[in-house]
Amino acid sequence: MRPGVRALGRSTVPVAKAARRLRRKNGLTIIGWHRVDGTSTGLSTGVDDFRRHLDEIERWGAVVLPLEEAVAGLRAGTLPPRAVVLTFDDGYASVVETAWPLLRERGMPTTLFAVSGALTGDLRFAWDRHEPEHDRLRLARPDELRDAARDGLDIGSHTVSHPWLPRLARAELRRELADSRTALEELLGRPVTSLAYPTGGWNPEVRAVAGEVGYRLGVTVDRGLNTARTPDLSLRRAFVPTDPRDLRLVLDGGYTLLRPLDSWRSRQGPPW
Ligand SMILES: [Zn+2]
Repeated sequence: MRPGVRALGRSTVPVAKAARRLRRKNGLTIIGWHRVDGTSTGLSTGVDDFRRHLDEIERWGAVVLPLEEAVAGLRAGTLPPRAVVLTFDDGYASVVETAWPLLRERGMPTTLFAVSGALTGDLRFAWDRHEPEHDRLRLARPDELRDAARDGLDIGSHTVSHPWLPRLARAELRRELADSRTALEELLGRPVTSLAYPTGGWNPEVRAVAGEVGYRLGVTVDRGLNTARTPDLSLRRAFVPTDPRDLRLVLDGGYTLLRPLDSWRSRQGPPW
């Protein structure tokens, strides 16, 4: 988290208070991580920091729900107070090896969004190519994903190759969304109905195609609380800041004020 962003959050106490009032209407907070290993740097969350995040989530009194159940509750108006959904993007092996056992131990349901292109080969993301520690950045193998899914980990799609979706021609966009879903369904032997847009890149066309090829839920990286009016295929989500105090700010709804910035960013190109 950049210090400026935190200062912005903390200097807007009335906004945070307003967000807490909004929360009393039982909105849904969705948060995410990428990988859990080593020390916290870049996309990695250190194991100790991850434990602190889970402690903070428990201390805050979160009711951690499976994604699908939580959105159904949001629609039906039956969502409990402080409902939170936990997610991971990209499908790193460290999630099934390290994070999932810790989450399961605490009874916290979780969704992992996996890139299906990694199922058939040793896919390495552009932003990981400079990293010397290949093993640490390894993506989960198909058998590891299948075992974790049997063990209760919910698996969603993160496309075939992690492209910036708004840039793709329609046929390619369909292929990235539909083929990934098919591959994961074949692997897991169960329906895959949720999607996380790579790097949060989406627009109304992307969202429409996601619906056409069979996804029911789509998760962005536009921060803020999900309300009854948030579309199922463009749900809001924040990645977890390393400092647990910042995580608390996310849970309290303090970042809802950053929505216009996020909406703008989700329409720009990817950072790599
Ligand atoms: Zn990703």
